[in-house]
Amino acid sequence: MADDTGNLELEAFRAEARAWLEANFPPALKGKGGLAMAEITFQDADLATWRRAIGEKGWATPTWPKEYGGGGLSRAQARVLQQEMGRIGAFNPLMFGMGVTMIGPTILDYGTEAQKQQHIPPIVRGEVQWCVGYSEPNAGSDLASLQMRCEDAGDHWQINGSKIWTSGAQYSDWCGALVRTDPTAKKHDGISFILIDMHQPAIETRPIKLIAGASPFCETFFTDATAPKDAILGELNRGWTVGKRLLQHERASQTGDRGPGGGGSAVALADLAKRYAGADAAGRIADPDLRTRVIRQQMDAKVHGLTLARAAAEAKEGASNAASVLKNSATHVAQTRAELMLEIMGHQGLGWDGEDFTREELEAVRGWLSGKAMSIYGGSFEIQNNIISKRILGLPDSTGST
Ligand SMILES: Cc1cc2nc3c(=O)[nH]c(=O)nc-3n(C[C@H](O)[C@H](O)[C@H](O)COP(=O)(O)OP(=O)(O)OC[C@H]3O[C@@H](n4cnc5c(N)ncnc54)[C@H](O)[C@@H]3O)c2cc1C
Repeated sequence: MADDTGNLELEAFRAEARAWLEANFPPALKGKGGLAMAEITFQDADLATWRRAIGEKGWATPTWPKEYGGGGLSRAQARVLQQEMGRIGAFNPLMFGMGVTMIGPTILDYGTEAQKQQHIPPIVRGEVQWCVGYSEPNAGSDLASLQMRCEDAGDHWQINGSKIWTSGAQYSDWCGALVRTDPTAKKHDGISFILIDMHQPAIETRPIKLIAGASPFCETFFTDATAPKDAILGELNRGWTVGKRLLQHERASQTGDRGPGGGGSAVALADLAKRYAGADAAGRIADPDLRTRVIRQQMDAKVHGLTLARAAAEAKEGASNAASVLKNSATHVAQTRAELMLEIMGHQGLGWDGEDFTREELEAVRGWLSGKAMSIYGGSFEIQNNIISKRILGLPDSTGST
């Protein structure tokens, strides 16, 4: 009976979501989410309208509390909303921003009431861009070795040092950073998580060019940068705990449930293989070895998708150590797919530019290259395996780093 009531409520919500989406999602944007989102610019009038509408409704952050502008939906309602968006080719225009995927959830977990009031509503409405300042030249996987200093300067904090690989720092309004507030403490202690306003001359960003052509991240230098006294997120010198929580949220956003990652368009691999490498009389991929590997990749992708769906259905909270398993599995599925795409395309999968290559072929090459980053960012493939062995399987810690 309780189930029936729940189902009735969900179906009522489905009707509400369907009506709202039909009234507010600009049809011209249909199917332009995921990878295709790169094709539309922020100046696009339809995209601006859609960002505003979904931001005001709170449905870009559907499960966040209503009091800070979020959708206030249950997880089941959020899934219905996602299904309804998928049905009409709509997408969440804020889903890839670090404010929505990492910083916002961490502020909701650890922020003071004042921090939530200040930072969550602009994130929900997509009005601010955030970056994450964790990695340093000598602190990547061994993040707790970070050295960026944050000193008590009386009425404010003074920050000196540098970060590296800071995604989107050159466009960001705010940075959530891990800094050393007590250099005398053991390395995992004495770290704090601080919210830094990026609009100050004391911060310089130098974009780094990647092999795939883009400059998605920066070296970021802080020279006597400042932050107000109430900018520490969580307890002073207990930032390691806050920082780990953000990483769980980050990994939860990299599990592949928000569209394909790491390699080319969403075209079916089997179709591609038949087009480039030929089909046999029965209509199958002609080369049996390639056929086996394409099928294996498709099975892996299917299993990953089903595991994701089960994890979402069972989830009691937004992120946990299980995200490490899903992130590694998503990485394997995406990178294998990208490798197969290039192999199937043969010489046509070796192009960089020029008229000899189709757009799909050029995208496949760039997607393959940029997809290499999936096993590095958010903590490398090996670091996820360390977390899985230590925190899920309970095996002895051999590294002391996670
Ligand atoms: C596209 C992209 C975006 C990024 N965005 C950001 C960002 O926005 N903010 C930010 O702070 N950082 C960002 N990073 C940095 C990323 O978090 C680091 O690159 C990553 O944590 C690895 O650190 P590292 O590059 O210093 O490599 P290292 O730590 O030097 O690792 C080198 C190799 O050694 C392996 N290794 C290291 N330690 C161990 C161990 N204990 N056990 C087993 N293997 C180990 C690693 O797996 C890796 O293969 C980004 C990286 C990329 C590629």
